[in-house]
Amino acid sequence: MQKRRVGRRSVPNHYVLVIFDSCRYDSFIRARPKALRKLGPVERRWSYASWTAPSHFNLLMGLLPHVSPKHVYASDYYTKDFFRYNERLGVENIEFKSLVPKMYLPAFLKESLGYETHAMVSLPVLNPYTILNNGFDSYRLMPAHNDMRAMVREMKFSDEQPAFYLLNVGETHYPYALPGEPPDEWPRISGVHGVFKHLDEHVVGGKLVARGEKMFDKKKLEMLRKRQIQAVRYLDTVVEELFDTVPKNTYITITSDHGELFGEGGYFGHGPIQHDKVYEVFFTEGKLR
Ligand SMILES: [Zn+2]
Repeated sequence: MQKRRVGRRSVPNHYVLVIFDSCRYDSFIRARPKALRKLGPVERRWSYASWTAPSHFNLLMGLLPHVSPKHVYASDYYTKDFFRYNERLGVENIEFKSLVPKMYLPAFLKESLGYETHAMVSLPVLNPYTILNNGFDSYRLMPAHNDMRAMVREMKFSDEQPAFYLLNVGETHYPYALPGEPPDEWPRISGVHGVFKHLDEHVVGGKLVARGEKMFDKKKLEMLRKRQIQAVRYLDTVVEELFDTVPKNTYITITSDHGELFGEGGYFGHGPIQHDKVYEVFFTEGKLR
């Protein structure tokens, strides 16, 4: 079957995909953000993976967290879900199969729709040498793992060419530290080890500490949960700045790559965990004006 030509109405929308790394749905809700509610309704959705790297691969395939509908074939869901890109990008005739053969959104946006494509990421497991860096004009691991504001201030948009930005935001990732907080004041959990030692324990996939009751200090886990909620409140102010930065023809999606466990079921963190809360994420998107 012949592929239909993807149509451009005029200049497509700029598209910004923001990922609050590790942010649980209920942390988002309890933070009661204001700016973050301006895009549209906040939905409860499910990530396709329980940790950062596979989840970002899926997101960059264009498959955003799903709604988990019953009695529906996966292929029908993908088709319907993908159709939303026509609205996001302001184009016509995009289908899931438009991405064949690479099946990768940045490459498709750049090669088929003429986008400039940029990624700014916080977590070293997503660094520019990974296979995720495909089809990007620029792809940067930011100097600090927890500074979305620095990303927003580096975003540039032109009238002639649509831009795609992926922002992987680390304030909501363990240790849920805001940019001004000195690293020696960050909470430490023994048994939580990162794969990147030089960046200490705060960058990891797979941080399971369920090796003994003593490791689960309820007060500490509650303190960590509150820190994640506080991080969302802080990010709400950065998102306000993002909204002031983007041109009016910009579509924005804000979601998370996976959830986080704060003691439920004997788990902390994310990664090698099978629990609803590690997949449960918030999702909101829309155009401001
Ligand atoms: Zn993550």
